Amino acid sequence: MKIQFLGACRQVTGSQYFIQCGRTRVLVDCGMFQERPYLDRNWAPLPVPGRELDAVILTHAHLDHCGLLPKLAQEGFHGRIFATPATADLAEIILRDSAHIQVEDAAYKRRRHKKEGRAGRYPEIPLYDVNDVEAVLPYFRPVAYHQPIELADITFRFLDAGHILGSAILLMELRENGKRRSLMFSGDLGQRDRPILRDPEDIGGAIDYLVVESTYGDRDHAQNGDLEESLANVVRHTSARGGNVIIPVFAVERAQDLLYHFSRLYRDGRLSPFPIFLDSPMAVRVTEVFRRHQECYDEETKQMVEVDSSPFDFPNLRLVGSVEESKQINTFHVPAVIMATSGMCTAGRIKFHLRNNIVRPESTILFVGYQARGTLGRQILEKNPYVRIHGKEWPTRARIEQLHGLSGHADRGGLLDWLGTAAAPPRSVFVTHGEESSSLNFAELLRAKLGWRVSVPNYSDTVELE
Ligand code: ZN
Repeated sequence: MKIQFLGACRQVTGSQYFIQCGRTRVLVDCGMFQERPYLDRNWAPLPVPGRELDAVILTHAHLDHCGLLPKLAQEGFHGRIFATPATADLAEIILRDSAHIQVEDAAYKRRRHKKEGRAGRYPEIPLYDVNDVEAVLPYFRPVAYHQPIELADITFRFLDAGHILGSAILLMELRENGKRRSLMFSGDLGQRDRPILRDPEDIGGAIDYLVVESTYGDRDHAQNGDLEESLANVVRHTSARGGNVIIPVFAVERAQDLLYHFSRLYRDGRLSPFPIFLDSPMAVRVTEVFRRHQECYDEETKQMVEVDSSPFDFPNLRLVGSVEESKQINTFHVPAVIMATSGMCTAGRIKFHLRNNIVRPESTILFVGYQARGTLGRQILEKNPYVRIHGKEWPTRARIEQLHGLSGHADRGGLLDWLGTAAAPPRSVFVTHGEESSSLNFAELLRAKLGWRVSVPNYSDTVELE
C-alpha cells in the first residue's frame, strides 16, 4: 500500500493524493493548481489513466480540491466520485463556473498572444469546458457523514471538518496481504465555533498515518474581539454618514457566514433594518445549496431555523442574480450593505460597486478575507492613494476597514489542539497544504512538542505505508 503526493506540497493549491492498495486505486481530491509557478502542473498526466481509477474521494468542493475532475472525464474515467451530498451540489456550481473561466481565459490569451506575436507559456486551449463538466457529474455518489463505504481493499468514511458546507475529514482503512493500516486526511480543517457548521470532529482512535494541512501552520489568527459587534459598528457608523458598506466576498462560505451574522444582529435588535444585497449569481446559487443542506448545520443554526427563520432569509436581504437588478442597486438612495464577488476584487461585480463608492468618504470598504499580493483588494487594503479600476485611476477616499475572525482554516493553535485528540502518536505524519515555510515550521513544532515522526513531502513523492 502506498501514497503518492500530487499537489499541495510545500504550497497551498492542487490537492491530490494517489493511493494504491491491493487491487484498489483511488485519488483523494483532484484539485486545480491556482498559484504561479505551478499552473503547468494542471496539464500533467495523471499517475494512471483515468479509466484505471476505481474512485475519487473528495474532502470538499473548493476548486483547489475538485477542480481537475473534468479532466478525468476526458481520460475515460468511469469510476465513482464519493463526496458528501452538500459537497456534490457545491462542486457542480464550482466546476461549471471554472469551465466558464477556463474557456474565457483561453480565448483572451489567444487574442493577446496573437496581438503580441508570441506564444504563451501555457496552452491557449481551456483545460476543460462545460461538456467535460457535464460528462463527469453522473459519476458523483453522495455519501452521508459517518456512513462507511467499502471498496475492494479500502473502507472509508467522512467526518465533519468544519471548513465549508459539506467539508470532511477522511478516515480510511487500507487492507493488503492480511495487513491493515488506518490513514486519515484532515482535509482543510475549520476553526471551532464557526457560524452554521459543526466543529471539526476529534481524531479519536489511534491512526497509523495522518496527512494534515498547514495553511496557518506558522501563525495564529488575529483576534477581533466580538466579531458581530465589530460588524454592527461598521454598519452603524457608515449609515450615520450616509454611505454604503461594500464587502468583497468569496461566493462559498464567507458570503453565507456574513448573512448568518447579519440575520442574528437584526433578530436581536442590535442593528436596525438596513438593506443588504448579495450581488453575485454564483453566491446566490451557493446560498440555495446552504438553504437546502440543513443536515450540515450545527445545533445553534438548526434552532434558528426552527424558532425564527433561516439565516439566509430576512426581510431586508436581497439576493441579486440579474445584471439589471445589479445595476439598480446603485440608484438606491438609502445607505446599504453590498456584498459582491470576487473576494479579492480581481473580477466580477464588486468592481462596479468599488468604482461607485471608493471616491465617497462616507462609504466604507470592508475586507473580511485574505487579500493576496498584487490584487486590487490588497491595493485598497493598503490604502494606496489611487487605484485602477476598469482602466481608470480612482482616488481612495472611502474608509477602509478589516474584520478578522472569519477565516475558514484552523490556525496553528487549532491544528495542534486537533492533533492532540489522537489517542496515540501516529506511525508517521505528512504535512501538506501550506506555504513551504509554514509547512516546515509546523512539522518542526510537531517534532519538538509531540515527538512525532513528521515529514513534509515534495511534489510527486511516493511513500510506502508499512
Ligand atoms: Zn478549502
